Amino acid sequence: MATTVQRQRMFVGGDWYEGSGEGAQPVVNPATGEVIAEVPKGTQADVDHAVAIARKAQPEWAETTPRERSEMLLKLADALLAHPDELADIESRNVGKPRALFLSEELPVCADNLRFFAGAARLLEGRAAGEYMRGFTSMIRREPVGVVASIAPWNYPLMMAVWKIGPALAAGNTVILKPSEWTPLSALEMARLAADIFPPGVLNVITGDGEPVGAGLVRHPGVAMVSLTGDVATGKEVAKAASQTLKRVHLELGGKAPVLVFDDADLEAVNAGIRVGAFFNSGQDCTAATRILAGPRIYDDLMSELAATVKDVKVGDPSQDVEMGPVVAREQLERITGFVDRARASGAAVVAGTGGNGRGFFYPPSLVSEVKQDSEIVQREVFGPVVTVQRFKDDEEAIAWANGVDYGLAASVWTSDVKRALNAARRLQFGTVWINTHIPLVSEMPHGGYKQSGYGKDLSIYAVEDYTQIKHVMAAL
Ligand code: NAD
Repeated sequence: MATTVQRQRMFVGGDWYEGSGEGAQPVVNPATGEVIAEVPKGTQADVDHAVAIARKAQPEWAETTPRERSEMLLKLADALLAHPDELADIESRNVGKPRALFLSEELPVCADNLRFFAGAARLLEGRAAGEYMRGFTSMIRREPVGVVASIAPWNYPLMMAVWKIGPALAAGNTVILKPSEWTPLSALEMARLAADIFPPGVLNVITGDGEPVGAGLVRHPGVAMVSLTGDVATGKEVAKAASQTLKRVHLELGGKAPVLVFDDADLEAVNAGIRVGAFFNSGQDCTAATRILAGPRIYDDLMSELAATVKDVKVGDPSQDVEMGPVVAREQLERITGFVDRARASGAAVVAGTGGNGRGFFYPPSLVSEVKQDSEIVQREVFGPVVTVQRFKDDEEAIAWANGVDYGLAASVWTSDVKRALNAARRLQFGTVWINTHIPLVSEMPHGGYKQSGYGKDLSIYAVEDYTQIKHVMAAL
């Protein structure tokens, strides 16, 4: 793969746009540390330009029929599937994703998500139409919100872009997508593939930092809604800034998923589930299996299984046949190293795997035990290939520890006892609870947080509804 530095442009109003500023943002390959591209460092003027274009395009877009919008989303799904190599090269080189895993596990999901949203566009409905007062007929209309600013993170750049633009466009909104400053390339590639599908101004992609570009979109009075996937701290800033214009906010934030392993669990299945759930995408997943809570009798056996697993996970060059590549950036590597070093310094035991190429931002799969419920590494999102293991004494303690964090995105329960599983599922304060599995998602089911993991849903019809507003129309008969 050549390492020429390509200058990319933003995509606004159906055209490539240089941006108004002088600045360029380097894009780095985390497996090598090399700069592979640069994108314009967006400015407030770029935000203003994109908002003006998206506002102008919105009324006409809202006039399209659900079928028309659906057909365009289906075409985009087809276009993604028709360019697997380009997209795999980009996500592998820009994020460090194992290329083969992107092709088998992510690209087909992105296309399926878009196809679901295409179908859902045709199923949006108001819940009632009838006479609720004598002599008057009422009906419910679901209408688009307007211009949506979609602010995305770096861990699944293409998939998060799809999760954001799919429901927003299906519902008749126009979109300004701001990918993460670290991983802008797949969103720009998607814009290239979408350029001949959607009318100009319907889908725009602008690049740059959280401030001024992300925050500029949040402040802008011409933006009707902001959808952010990112860190809890960013979510709080966005919600606060959005309150100035009272725009709608959709927040998908961090997670710290507990994995409750009861003594009657199938040990082999748990180990296999954690291997994928904790280390897929180098653990940079908001639903990653990060906190293993094991029953008193299964704990020792599980520890030995997991210790063998972290040493067995194949880590290396993401263009090769590996399970795990690097983490996304040097800053992220330092952040993870800091968490584990501080845990070790406070008495935790660490078992780590191996791998990497000595150049890139690699962190080994790691198992951290001898930690307490109030330890920093148990309470805060590490966002890397690191799991903690705690031994609980009974079901009550397992549930209390599982719920005892600020996050509430996802959890899993492993047991052969149906009652125990369903009781745990009922009591766990998380937006997703898996039973005897961890991590699978489907387009039809919602994904979103409780507590400080945010509000609003991705995927499913709930996501499409989140991007609409409800109008009551009442007519005298
Ligand atoms: P981040 O919060 O640093 O950045 C997310 C996006 O917000 C980026 O595009 C960034 O430029 C932008 N941004 C930063 N400051 C902003 C501001 N003040 N106003 C507007 N935009 C701003 O998050 P990240 O490091 O890119 O992503 C990792 C985080 O995302 C993790 O916490 C992870 O759990 C979370 N995440 C959540 C989900 C979910 O579905 N809940 C999915 C993926 C990632």
